[in-house]
Amino acid sequence: MKIGVIKEIEFGERRVALIPEVVSRLVKNGLEILVESHAGEASYFADSTYVEAGATIVTDKATLITESDILLKVGAPREEEVDMFRSGQITIGFLNPLGRPELIRRLANQGVTAMSMEMIPRSSRAQSMDALSSQASIAGYKAVLVAAAALPKYLPMLTTAAGTIPPAKVVVLGAGVAGLQAIATARRLGAQVEAYDIRPAVREEVQSLGAKFIDVILQEDTTASGGYAKEISEAAKQHAQTVLAKHIKEADIVITTAQVPGRKAPVMVTEAMIAQMRRGSIIVDLAGEQGGNCEGTVAGRDVISHGVTIISPINLPASMPIHASQKYAKNLLNLLNHLIKKGELHLDFEDDIISSTCVTHAGAILNQRVKDAIAQLVPN
Ligand code: NAD
Repeated sequence: MKIGVIKEIEFGERRVALIPEVVSRLVKNGLEILVESHAGEASYFADSTYVEAGATIVTDKATLITESDILLKVGAPREEEVDMFRSGQITIGFLNPLGRPELIRRLANQGVTAMSMEMIPRSSRAQSMDALSSQASIAGYKAVLVAAAALPKYLPMLTTAAGTIPPAKVVVLGAGVAGLQAIATARRLGAQVEAYDIRPAVREEVQSLGAKFIDVILQEDTTASGGYAKEISEAAKQHAQTVLAKHIKEADIVITTAQVPGRKAPVMVTEAMIAQMRRGSIIVDLAGEQGGNCEGTVAGRDVISHGVTIISPINLPASMPIHASQKYAKNLLNLLNHLIKKGELHLDFEDDIISSTCVTHAGAILNQRVKDAIAQLVPN
């Protein structure tokens, strides 16, 4: 079985789907690996290192695509790549199936089996394949570094001959994967950290990282399955904002990471709250591409509001391409090991990892949410 690694060409994407270390593991398992030339260059993996690991470098994209049984990418395939796909091939990557239903419809029409890394379930069985989490953790770490670099202050407490500097105050809103890593990173940099999440179950995790959990008592059920949150009522949102306003007012840095899957990001920081913050303070809103947790957020831009800089970075994992590619490649290795036994592909649709992740197969769209999104499109 041949596995092809396509070079990422989206602007700003520096990750690669497989790194040489993972290539050598797959080669040992009897698989043949083709890598598009320079695929690893932006993440500092030279073609020669893939060759040493047992891969074949292919200069022509069309040849790589034609010869491969499984095509790996980080992002979704581009139109011109999809044109080259053939029926029966498998493509795996972050396909954004709910955001790009037209792409999924095309892949189904071409008879391609599409596996979307966003759809890996958040279960302990699938943890080693959970690329959304491996990448979100990088985003949480980097969000704090971005904030620290922009903050016109120190983060740690410093006692110097010129006086004592108190630690910076960091508030993290949403303590899921990215939020917990942001808390840990801010603590390592010496900041005083407070955090809030609507799921009360995360209180202990927040506290174990040395942060204070902000108590907001909500009279409703806030927890969905798989470690995700439910959307809360307007009244509950108002109540949370009233409690949070006092903490945000005192913060030097606010990192927001709140999301409810499939929904627009909840607005947690209003303009009125920002107006109360000290000038020079920093907000990093990781949910910018889902509409933002903060009023005034513009995804991919820095916005100054009442003297506070709101930064909403896009694709932070791509800014750390070595480790981001390493983690993503390990997630893919574990998925491939799950799919391929003794060199043979086994697509067992009774298995929830495969049934959740596989969005198209044999011409059909398999996921109901994707089907609903496609139903909204103009027929082709
Ligand atoms: P996650 O689901 O693990 O965590 C989100 C947390 O938000 C959950 O713990 C949930 O309980 C909490 N939450 C939901 N609604 C809330 C509310 N109203 N109040 C308080 N908490 C609430 O998600 P994640 O994987 O950590 O990702 C977090 C965000 O970061 C997402 O929007 C994701 O798209 C984004 N992200 C951005 C980048 C980037 O580069 N910009 C990279 C990766 C992830």
